[in-house]
Amino acid sequence: MIRAEYIWVDGTQPTAKLRSKAKVIEKTDKLGDLPIWGFDGSSTNQAPGDASDCVLRPVFCCPDPIRGGDNLLVLAEVLLPDMSAHPTNTRSACAEAAEKYASLDFWFGIEQEYTFFKGTRPLGFPEGGFPPPQGGYYCGVGADEVFGRPVVEAHLENCLQAGLGISGINGEVMPGQWEFQVGPLGALGVSDQLWVARWLLYRTGEDFGINATLDPKPARGDWNGAGAHTNFSTNAMRTSYQPNIDAAEALKTRHDLHIANYGYRIEERLTGLHETASYKEFKYGVSDRGASVRIPWQVEVEGKGYIEDRRPNANMDPYTVTCLIMETVGDAALATA
Ligand code: ADP
Ligand code: MN
Ligand code: MN
Ligand code: MN
Repeated sequence: MIRAEYIWVDGTQPTAKLRSKAKVIEKTDKLGDLPIWGFDGSSTNQAPGDASDCVLRPVFCCPDPIRGGDNLLVLAEVLLPDMSAHPTNTRSACAEAAEKYASLDFWFGIEQEYTFFKGTRPLGFPEGGFPPPQGGYYCGVGADEVFGRPVVEAHLENCLQAGLGISGINGEVMPGQWEFQVGPLGALGVSDQLWVARWLLYRTGEDFGINATLDPKPARGDWNGAGAHTNFSTNAMRTSYQPNIDAAEALKTRHDLHIANYGYRIEERLTGLHETASYKEFKYGVSDRGASVRIPWQVEVEGKGYIEDRRPNANMDPYTVTCLIMETVGDAALATA
């Protein structure tokens, strides 16, 4: 027998939380063998108490690096008892879009920023005061600039042992703030794996007595917020330059819709300061970290590649963000094809 940790996204508003519980099952490593399960939706903001049953259907599984052995992590989507998608299930719309735009072959690479907290203060913030101002912390080294590296290293190791498509880590601009990147992968792959990587981040932190938050603006004042830059490409963008410009132009036409779906309290982070463009305007440019969308310099030099949507908040839902990008960029690409 093995232990399968079933992980799902709950219905907490305005930002959903992760939940998980373990089931003892016959040994397997195949998604198709994993049983449907259920939970009490009245305790996760997903159902009223008099009709509390919600259904968990496995959509992704990987080795469990916490328990080791043949044990598994199982990401499940939430269904209603009639097996239709639960209203909080944003994966279902993403799956439809992934199918609709499959011919464009979208890839996504998401940079997940987050902040460690010990008690009520960001890690590295002294009690009753503030650390020295930003400048030396980004990709820093040394005990005066780096806070939480043992947790970051343990998290990276856990993601690799789970077989996730994690592509890197770095220290961020504010003390206690870090980033990991997942991808490039398709929309469902990157989103499923980002949710599992987030779960592993919280779970790894437990063993150190440190918690991570995706709060987009964890410290007020002159401190960077936390985002989830979403890099993406289609086959055409990876082949020639103009489709990269076309994608940025397409995003411009639905700026407000994207902002409304890129994470709660996005106005507090996208101020126009701290390497952001204001949420009130849309602009793109080569190498411009003050733009809504950045075209990496290598893409201009090589004349092909991908672009970076810098707007999504750290607390965004990757199913929603990748779904919207596929719809906005995909509709424009298919209209001119
Ligand atoms: P930044 O310079 O903004 O900090 P990072 O190196 O942190 O960028 O992240 C870049 C992300 O873009 C990585 O996740 C990488 O896998 C992803 N990426 C690279 N090439 C592509 C591509 N062609 N399509 C989509 N994503 C890509
Ligand atoms: Mn980055
Ligand atoms: Mn970053
Ligand atoms: Mn970036």
